[in-house]
Amino acid sequence: MIYLDNAATTRVCPEAALAAMAVMTEGFGNPSSRYAHGAAAAERLQADRATVAAAVGCLPEELFFTSCGTEGDNWAIRAAVEYGKRKGRHIITTAIEHSAVLEPVRALANQGYEVTYLRPDRWGRIDPQDLAAALRPDTVLVSMMLVNNELGTILPVKEAAEAIRASGSPALLHTDTVQAFLKVPFTPKDLGVDLLTISGHKVRAPKGIGALYIRKGLKLKPLMLGGGQESGMRPGTEPTAQIAALAAACQAWLDHREEYTKRIEDTKNYFLDSFSAALPQGVVVSHGDAPHICAVSLPGYPSEMLVRELSDRGICVSSGSACHRGKPSHVFAATGRPKAELLGALRVSFSPENTTEECDALVQALVEITSARVAAR
Ligand code: PLP
Repeated sequence: MIYLDNAATTRVCPEAALAAMAVMTEGFGNPSSRYAHGAAAAERLQADRATVAAAVGCLPEELFFTSCGTEGDNWAIRAAVEYGKRKGRHIITTAIEHSAVLEPVRALANQGYEVTYLRPDRWGRIDPQDLAAALRPDTVLVSMMLVNNELGTILPVKEAAEAIRASGSPALLHTDTVQAFLKVPFTPKDLGVDLLTISGHKVRAPKGIGALYIRKGLKLKPLMLGGGQESGMRPGTEPTAQIAALAAACQAWLDHREEYTKRIEDTKNYFLDSFSAALPQGVVVSHGDAPHICAVSLPGYPSEMLVRELSDRGICVSSGSACHRGKPSHVFAATGRPKAELLGALRVSFSPENTTEECDALVQALVEITSARVAAR
């Protein structure tokens, strides 16, 4: 199998798998238990929290483990509007957020919140001046992702923070860094955000673990009620094996950060060059500012068909996270590109494991598929 869909999920790295195995079979105590086996689990949890916090660039007490990126996004959005409920009912987000942001925002719109959606240009870029113009004294939340999951573009989160400060708006700033984490350098402080979401399975940890950063001093409400875990902010017995795996995956990535970034970016550029050379009818929809994601299109060849035929040849790429039943995903659609380009769009996303030979195989397969099929125009 050739796996080129690393923005969807990643293979768990050996370091993470071994760490999870050790915690599941040996250090499996409940961190809340009073005896030594529990205390050892609590100590391990503390060390793992410190490792992940260092990777995020925050204090350990600013990091709250969640089950996934979706939970972090939902929690951040609901808690932020609750926090600002006496100040206003206006939210700003972008038209190209993941559904983990768009759906909770839509639910709030149904409850009477007013939402401004910032629209991207054809390359998927958001203009920070649009945000500055949209800010109001009753804006309580701005939610802007750092890296878009389908185009790989970087959004102007730091500029958003500056605009919020300059406007005097009471808005809290949340950023979804599920695709950015470890791939592009940032710290919450540099970005100037109040809330930030990460997810483990995009960085070679298992599914079922993520985290929400909450700026120190910001007193928000938990999403769920229960025991006192995570300082009472996220109840439920801590998934210590997944947390250990996330910490190990972060450390393994940090140990090779420069090398991984270069390798991923070189492989992506090699693919884009080969694609353009071998398929003159192809369009590069997005080179991706982030090292690991790009999007291409073969106008006239529906991406669902391409994904299926590539899958038959053992190659995994994505047609975009919501492209189905002949409709382009909301992200591709928001770029306003011609419909044929949108319907033939493919996202290709890389990990340090991918090779140029795999890129050659993908390009060769696309050449064969398109030569065997006449474009539907
Ligand atoms: N946000 C972005 C940008 C994503 O790409 C994803 C997953 O694809 C999510 C949020 C949701 O993360 P999770 O799958 O951990 O719930």
